[in-house]
Amino acid sequence: GSEALRNLLLGKIRDVPDHPKPGVLFKDITPLLADPEAFTALTDALAGLAEERGATKVVGLEARGFILAAPVAVRAGIGFVPVRKAGKLPGATLSQAYELEYGGAEIEIHAEDLDPGDRVLVIDDVLATGGTAEAALRLIRRAGAQVAGVAVLMELGFLPGRTRLEAELGGAPLDVL
Ligand code: AMP
Repeated sequence: GSEALRNLLLGKIRDVPDHPKPGVLFKDITPLLADPEAFTALTDALAGLAEERGATKVVGLEARGFILAAPVAVRAGIGFVPVRKAGKLPGATLSQAYELEYGGAEIEIHAEDLDPGDRVLVIDDVLATGGTAEAALRLIRRAGAQVAGVAVLMELGFLPGRTRLEAELGGAPLDVL
């Protein structure tokens, strides 16, 4: 992405120290969402990426990934598929458990929402440890679809998210705006 776009977007992200617990610097995207110029510019940039990567679907990661990915799907004219925390999706799901810094987590997808020919771009706001995105890529592959890439607004550079994702990306790109 361009420097001007990055300045516009990153200028609208609020750093909240010690949320949701001491020691975490939370990246709050709600000011960006509330600004129509910034939200539109972000949506357009991600839709352009989706087209560049030949994506036929976008997967949004609960919960902020939903907000970013849904308008991208509409703008790019492709489908939206949610990856949710375990127990939320009503249909037949594939589940993927993964390890986080403290304990584990589990996410799910409706397998029937992806077709074998689909190329899927995963969208989220922040890449931290990479655990969630890595598990999402596993779900996409287990559903028989292809990975077009991962796109995030921000990467927390002091965490090894990029390294953790590498194997599961299998050569597909990680884009940070
Ligand atoms: P991870 O699996 O560690 O990469 O964490 C990714 C998920 O946690 C994403 O859905 C992010 O929205 C959220 N997340 C992790 N760290 C932060 C942070 N410092 N600020 C905002 N969101 C975060």
